Amino acid sequence: TQLANNGVQQLRPYQPGKPVEELQRELGLRDVVKLASNENPLGPSHRALEAARRSLDQIHLYPDGAGFELKHALADNLGVSSDRITLGNGSNDVLELVARAYLQPGDEAVFSEYAFAIYPLVTLGCSAKPVSVDSHLYGHDLAAMADAITERTRVVFLANPNNPTGTWFNDQALDNFLARVPERVIVVLDEAYFEYVEESHYPDGLKRLDRYPNLVVTRTFSKIHGLAGLRVGYAVSHPQIADVLNRVRQPFNVNIPALAAAQAALGDLDHIENSKGENTAGLVQLAEGLDALGFTQIPSVANFIAFDCGGDAETVYQGLLREGVIVRPLGGYGLPNHLRVTAGTARDNERFLQALKQVTCR
Ligand code: PMP
Repeated sequence: TQLANNGVQQLRPYQPGKPVEELQRELGLRDVVKLASNENPLGPSHRALEAARRSLDQIHLYPDGAGFELKHALADNLGVSSDRITLGNGSNDVLELVARAYLQPGDEAVFSEYAFAIYPLVTLGCSAKPVSVDSHLYGHDLAAMADAITERTRVVFLANPNNPTGTWFNDQALDNFLARVPERVIVVLDEAYFEYVEESHYPDGLKRLDRYPNLVVTRTFSKIHGLAGLRVGYAVSHPQIADVLNRVRQPFNVNIPALAAAQAALGDLDHIENSKGENTAGLVQLAEGLDALGFTQIPSVANFIAFDCGGDAETVYQGLLREGVIVRPLGGYGLPNHLRVTAGTARDNERFLQALKQVTCR
C-alpha cells in the first residue's frame, strides 16, 4: 500500500455481505436466506428483465455514452430537465464522481457518524479528509454538521433515509441545514431509499434544486426497482454541476442491458407499488418480531432495520449463519452490538426471526 496515495493508505476494504453460494458450500445447505444487502425481495420488474434480455443482441456495440434515452425518460419521470442528470454505474459511482470532481488533498468532506461506508471511501480515495460528525440517536445531527463546516469543506454527504440505521430527517430540518451551508460547498443528498418513505414531512430533494444550486440529489435503480446487479444510479443537480460530473464520468459507465432495464423499470408502476407494499409489510413483520423477542431496534423508514443484540453482535451473526441466514453486522460502522436485517418476503423474514430466536434463546 505504500505507493498508494495518502488517503488510500488509510482505507480499509469495503466488506460486502457474505455471498449466498459461499454459505451454501460451507454448510452443505441449499436453503440459505440472505437479508444483508438491502435488495428487493420481489426481484426486478418483468418489463425491465424483458428489456434487458432484448438488449443483449446489441452487446457487441458500445452503449450510448450519453445515456440519451434513459436520461430523457428520467427527466420526464422526475419533472426536471435532462441537462440536470448524471448517470452512474450505481449511485456509488455518482458519489465517487462528486468526490473526484470536487475534492483535492487537504479538502474536507463532512458526513454523519454511522453514515454510509462509501462516503469515507470516496473521500480518502481523493486524499481528502473525512470529517465524521457525532450523530444524534443514530440519525444526522444536522446542526452539528453545519457547525463542522470550515473553510476547507468542499462536500457534505447526507443520506435520507440513512444506511445502516434507517433514520430520516424532515423537511424543516433539511431546509434549516441547507440555509446554513455556504454555496461553495456541494451538498450531496443521497436518496437511495427515497421511494420507500411514507412520512408526510419527508423532504423531496428535487423540489429544492432551484433554491440551492449547490445541491446534488442521488437516487438508484438498485432498491425499489430491484436492479442492484445491473448497477444504475443517477444524480440530479444544477446543470453546471451535471456538466462537471459528466466530464469526470467514464463515457460508457452504464452498460446496454442496464440502460434498457432502467428505462423499462421507470414505467412499471405496478412493480414499484408492489415492492413498496411488500417492504412496508416486511418492516412491520420484522419490527413486531424483534419486539416480541425483546430486541431494541432503531425505527426505520427504509428497507431494513438495525437492532441491538444487547451484547457482541458478531456471535449472533455467526449463529445466524449456522442457521443459514445472512444479515449484516455493523461493527465496521462503529455499532458492534447491532445487526442490520433487510426486509425480505414474509417467508424469509419468518425464517430470520425463527433463526434469531434459536440463536439467542438457547
Ligand atoms: N447510498 C446508500 C445510502 C445506500 O445504502 C446504497 C446501497 N447500499 C447506495 C447509496 C448505493 O447503491 P447503488 O450503488 O447500488 O446505487
